[in-house]
Parts: sequence; structure tokens; C-alpha cells
Amino acid sequence: MWISKFIFTYSFAYGWKKFHERGDFTKLKDRIAIVTGGGSGIGQSIAMELAKEGAKLALVGRTLGKLETTVEKLKEINGEAIAVSADVSDSAQVQKMVQEVINHYGRIDILCNTAGIFDGPNDYLETEEEVFESVMNINVTGTFLVSKYVLPHMLKQGKGVVINTSSVAGIRSCYASPAYTASKHAVIGLTGDMAVKYATKGIRSVAVCPGFIETEMISDLLGDKIDENNPVIAPIPMKRLGRVEEIGKVFAFLASDDASYISGVPIIVDGALTV
Ligand code: NAD
Repeated sequence: MWISKFIFTYSFAYGWKKFHERGDFTKLKDRIAIVTGGGSGIGQSIAMELAKEGAKLALVGRTLGKLETTVEKLKEINGEAIAVSADVSDSAQVQKMVQEVINHYGRIDILCNTAGIFDGPNDYLETEEEVFESVMNINVTGTFLVSKYVLPHMLKQGKGVVINTSSVAGIRSCYASPAYTASKHAVIGLTGDMAVKYATKGIRSVAVCPGFIETEMISDLLGDKIDENNPVIAPIPMKRLGRVEEIGKVFAFLASDDASYISGVPIIVDGALTV
């Protein structure tokens, strides 16, 4: 009998100690966050990491089914989320989506612009004009439009964080197509512009530049043999791809008040690739 009492008391004390060692896991408690592209890959991981810190989510994408999958995953960790379908490159759909989020939650504290497309490592001659246009429309105009229609709500609140998803292709010009490279450089430009113009209005804007991350987006680039000799992985000093949660956790930090003096800059998360 005394043994089971001892085990119970010891386990309780150990669990309590461990719980406290983990620190404050509610850095984003009750903050409302929009994550575009939240139905898969990096966007889904951002949603999970924000929810772990207490944020309530609005997941945005073109396909409701994909967003619902993330909503279900969030429920498993007691996260709260709504799914709102919108094409980020369509102004009318974006405005309707922002209104829906406001109607549901009443405010928007965090915007993660993560929806994006990648047209591969094409060169100039291989890049069709309409492909160039659609990459720019989604990656750049989409980021601009969602920010433009969310910003008035953040300004009214006197506080907000916009985190844009750029890429190492926004830092160096050797990883992707002309369209993707131009689009991700432009995202860094939009980020700096917003940071400077609204710095005294309580708004921060940051760009995250992931290296090569394990998602569907780059599966065609990798081929079958995913080891250190893979041509995508070989130049990465850490000799591995990034994991989605390694990006999601950076977003969660940047969205929190712990990052209150970080604005306007690209944050590179790439296993030392661009060094
Ligand atoms: P992904 O394809 O899983 O995610 C992209 C998401 O954007 C999808 O859910 C898709 O449905 C959504 N989307 C695409 N077009 C849209 C539109 N017009 N309107 C609304 N939603 C739209 O790929 P991912 O790897 O998770 O990419 C997420 C972001 O990270 C992208 O912006 C991508 O450019 C960037 N990124 C990815 C990598 C990588 O290695 N995977 C590296 C650097 C940057």
C-alpha cells in the first residue's frame, strides 16, 4: 500500500516539476491568428505551434477539405479554429474572408501569410509568361491583399504582427525559378515597407525565410533517394531537410511579445545553407 502511495506522490511531484520547467506555454493566449495556406505543410505546422501557445486560429486556403484536416488536428491538442475558404490572389474573396474572421472572433492579432506556390527550378526560357504571372499573383499579390485588408483591424486595435513567408530564394538567387525568386524577394520588400510605415502604430512585420523543408512542395525536386548525397541536401551544412515544426516554432516566437523588437527583417531558418 505504502509503495503505491509513494509511487503516486513521486510521479505527481515529478510531473509538476516537469510542467513548470516547460515554462509559460500560453504566450499567445486568446490571440486571434489568420494562417493562409493552413491546410498543409508549413502553414499547418504554424497553426499547430500557434495553438500550442494559446492562439485561436482562422485557417485560410482554396480547398475547405484540406483546411478541415488541420482543424481536426488542432482539436486533438484542444486548439480552436475555423476554416475559411479564399483564394488569396482574389481581392473580393480576401475581403469576404477577413470580414468572416472579424464576424467570428471580433479581432485579428496575428497574420501569417503562408499560402504560396513553387514552379520548380525552371530557367528563364522554361518559364511560361502565365506561370510567372500566377506565381507573382499568389506569392506577392496574395501577401499584399491579405495584409491590406487585415491591417485596418490591427491599426484600430493599436497592435498586430504580420509574418510573411519568404524563402532562401528571397535572399539568394540560385535556388529556384525567376518567378519564385522574384516573388520571394518581393515578399521581403513588402515586409520591410510595412514595418517602417507602421512602426509607431504598434504593428510589427517580419519575413521568415525557410531553407528546404520536408513538404509536398519540394518532393519533385528531391527525387527518390533522400540521403546526404541528394543534390538538394548535399549543400546544406546540417545535411538534412528542415522539419515543418522547425518553421512553425519560429513563427510562434515571432508572433509573441518575446519578439517585440524584431521587425522589418528576414529571419533565415535554413540549417546554415545560405552562410
Ligand atoms: P504547401 O504546398 O504544402 O503549402 C502551400 C499552401 O498554400 C497549400 O495549402 C495551398 O493550398 C495554399 N495555396 C496555394 N495557392 C493558394 C491561393 N491562391 N489561395 C489560398 N491558398 C493557396 O507547401 P509548403 O512547403 O508548406 O509552403 C508554404 C510556404 O512556404 C509557401 O509560401 C512556400 O513558398 C514557402 N516555402 C516553402 C519551402 C519548402 O522547402 N517547403 C521553402 C521556403 C519557403
